[in-house]
Amino acid sequence: MKDITCKTCQQKVHGRNNQIYCSQKCKNEFHNDKYRKRHVNALTTLKVIMNNAKKMEKLYMRYGDVALNSKVFIASGVEPGYTNFTRTDGLFEFDDWGLKEIGEDLYKIVAPRTHKRNE
Ligand SMILES: [Zn+2]
Repeated sequence: MKDITCKTCQQKVHGRNNQIYCSQKCKNEFHNDKYRKRHVNALTTLKVIMNNAKKMEKLYMRYGDVALNSKVFIASGVEPGYTNFTRTDGLFEFDDWGLKEIGEDLYKIVAPRTHKRNE
């Protein structure tokens, strides 16, 4: 049997002669790491979009269904350049949260249909 070291943890591999990882955990770790490196830009963008959605939810819980200007969104940490979709009716989507322009620098948050407000 050949002396093989694990591609992930560098420990000695026991098992089949063509085995290159010491365990399923190390194999998954290697491939997950490769995936994260390959898709770093997309994953970073997704993270910001999901953060935007969280911040929209917080704003919605605080202010409800009112018109807010862009300063409020910026101050709360929303990064408006990171949206996953802009619908033809002008609704910007951040994950499942929406932002509708209703006037000159005035926007309303559109909660997902599934969202229930604590009232
Ligand atoms: Zn290993």
